[in-house]
Amino acid sequence: MSNQFKEALAQLNKTCEIMNVEHDEVEILKSPQKVIEVSIPVKMDGGDLKVFTGFRVQYNNARGPFKGGLRYHPRVNLDEVQALAFWMTIKCAVADIPYGGSKGGITVDIKQLSKGELERLTRGYVRAIAEFVGPCKDIPAPDVYTNPQIMAWFMDEYSRIKGQNEPAVVTGKPVEIGGSLGRDTATAQGGFYVLENILKKLKLKNDITIAIQGFGNAGMNFAKIAFEHNYKVAAVSDSKSGIYNPEGLDVNKVIEHKNSTGSVINFAGARNISNEELLELPMKVLVPAALEAVITKDNADKIKASIVLELANGPTTIEASEKLYEKAVLVVPDVLANSGGVIVSYFEWVQNLRHYYWELEKVQANLDKQINRATDLVWRYMKDYNVDMRAAAYIIAIEKIVKALKIRGV
Ligand code: GLU
Repeated sequence: MSNQFKEALAQLNKTCEIMNVEHDEVEILKSPQKVIEVSIPVKMDGGDLKVFTGFRVQYNNARGPFKGGLRYHPRVNLDEVQALAFWMTIKCAVADIPYGGSKGGITVDIKQLSKGELERLTRGYVRAIAEFVGPCKDIPAPDVYTNPQIMAWFMDEYSRIKGQNEPAVVTGKPVEIGGSLGRDTATAQGGFYVLENILKKLKLKNDITIAIQGFGNAGMNFAKIAFEHNYKVAAVSDSKSGIYNPEGLDVNKVIEHKNSTGSVINFAGARNISNEELLELPMKVLVPAALEAVITKDNADKIKASIVLELANGPTTIEASEKLYEKAVLVVPDVLANSGGVIVSYFEWVQNLRHYYWELEKVQANLDKQINRATDLVWRYMKDYNVDMRAAAYIIAIEKIVKALKIRGV
């Protein structure tokens, strides 16, 4: 077993000890229910055939069908997908939506693929896992380097196999074919609601400076929303590099610059910085919004932010979390901070099953309500149990999952 899943299980053990969970339930929660690994042959544009490896890990479905994103990244491996599937199980319980947790991934660098190759890869993956997914079984969604177009191909291929339209098999689709309004910005929007709630609880109003690592769907939209609400977004970065202006960046202009040059680097009026430097800037709020394990025991001591809002999954290692807790840095855990995505996925699925579509205002009002309720509960558990926010969120989740397991009959 390599690191990430081991870390996730350490968190599980820690929580079960605090809560005195019985042996049988802990044992069940320690392993995924099903692990699927497939080979996907793809005819490349040049005529060669290339075989890719794909995964789907179905962690637990005691509370409802498996739910979780599909990631395309060169570093995707089984250990990572298992950890991500476990976190989805926790996240859906914290958000109080009727799902279990799962995750999928393909080991691929999409920057090396043409659009046609990407489509064939996606359709091949769907054919390989079709029997294991479905609206009441397991519902994928976008994650790192997957997007609404990929979800559209997924839904189309699955519908062909079933011989009927099956929009509810994936979420995060384009609105033209059953996607929900507000799903594209939901992770960022949800994270923003959580941040505002927490700033209110901490009675922090002025001089909120923000640094954001990662400029994909979550990071870029978060930067945009925070900027629109007059927060000072002073630093952002993408996979290549970062930029910093202590006076604040004009986020809309940064987005234009990124769209025209392919990167945030060399933005006029800002200093280029590295991704590592960005994490250590003297900011009120640090938002890791890219990949796992960027805040580790090696740089935790150098973090100067008062609040770390985890928009990425697993950006802070356990050792780093402990160090930050000692330093009184408030880490708002991924399973709460980025749950806006899966919450609106749930709304999309409900709309698909009902064939009745909501206005954007309704989506946002329901997201606001659902994620603030979860935030208030995590906050209360944090105080009651005198633990960090991550442990509080895990206690809430494990309580719900264990109850469901017991009621169903383990
Ligand atoms: N990939 C996102 C996450 O990690 C969304 C999952 C979903 O909507 O099912 O939360």
